[in-house]
Amino acid sequence: MNRNEEILALVRPNIRALSPYSTARDEFGGKLGVFLDANESPYQNGWNRYPDPRQQALKKRIGAWKGIGAEQIFLGNGSDEAIDLLFRIFCRPGVDNAVAISPSYGMYAVAAAINDVPLREVPLAEDFSLRPKALLQACDAQTKLLFLCSPNNPTGNAFPRPDIRALLAHFGGILVVDEAYADFSEAGSLLAELPQWPRLVILQTCSKARGLAALRLGMAFADPLIIQLMSQVKYPYNINEATQRLAMEALSQPMDAQVREIVAERGRVARMLASFPFVRKVYPSDANFLLVRVDDADALYEHLIADGIIVRNRNRVPLCRGCLRITIGLQAENDKLLTSLQAYAK
Ligand SMILES: *Cc1c(COP(=O)(O)O)cnc(C)c1O
Repeated sequence: MNRNEEILALVRPNIRALSPYSTARDEFGGKLGVFLDANESPYQNGWNRYPDPRQQALKKRIGAWKGIGAEQIFLGNGSDEAIDLLFRIFCRPGVDNAVAISPSYGMYAVAAAINDVPLREVPLAEDFSLRPKALLQACDAQTKLLFLCSPNNPTGNAFPRPDIRALLAHFGGILVVDEAYADFSEAGSLLAELPQWPRLVILQTCSKARGLAALRLGMAFADPLIIQLMSQVKYPYNINEATQRLAMEALSQPMDAQVREIVAERGRVARMLASFPFVRKVYPSDANFLLVRVDDADALYEHLIADGIIVRNRNRVPLCRGCLRITIGLQAENDKLLTSLQAYAK
């Protein structure tokens, strides 16, 4: 099988046969003219025209940032849109299934349930390391998607590159590597390996290190055929004009200094946390949060809330009993957290 056949063999028949909606603006996009084709208001107010459904300017900018071509980029209303689209493109409801590590990002299970696709959750090892063999054993001929979040949420660790390559080599479906936190990790991104793997989809987002959570801009990087399928199935105007314009502006701002500061604060907060008597373990983190195991997670969670500090209680998540997930904030915010913890320790 060639690259395209390998991908198409995994696509739902109804999606393969789809003739997508063609927007009025598809044909004459960038050109100047008298636009009497889309029933918009003709009165200029900055927003009266539909946005570019192909987001060409923004993809060009993101392509330059990431060092890849626009045909390998899908832009979504958050990564969550890309996750949902992958289910809709590859998984026949009630027939196909998907596999994910557990614990991991909650949206994989929500999107699977909405699409009526069983998600087989394969536990990580007790130390949160990956179990590639167990993951492959959970797959069968109907397993179309395998979700691997690296660095993983909520455990914070990035998985070794050789393990990910082994999954790519031996899993016959689409491997989705969610790199929402890759900017905070020395492990970096798998993006440079994209040309080698036709069935690899990499998810990244502008919501975390890039600091644009409110704009809702997620990115998927993959083979041009997968990107073409995602573009055909998405809502035509999924990225609104405000997001396209504001993201163009924001992406010209560097973010390295902020990432360095968060990483430095992560180290400082981790060392401080480890010194409290009620802290059993601070897990190593490649992300902008720390997973911390404590004596009584619910009690500590309530104590922090009473001090106006909101963290994420992961006490009821598999393998995370007794754990809180704490985002790294500004230095002053982290200091407030530490002060509150000192009071709790007394
Ligand atoms: C925060 C997060 C995202 C980002 O989702 P958006 O919809 O792009 O905001 C994606 N994956 C993981 C694992 C996350 O933690």
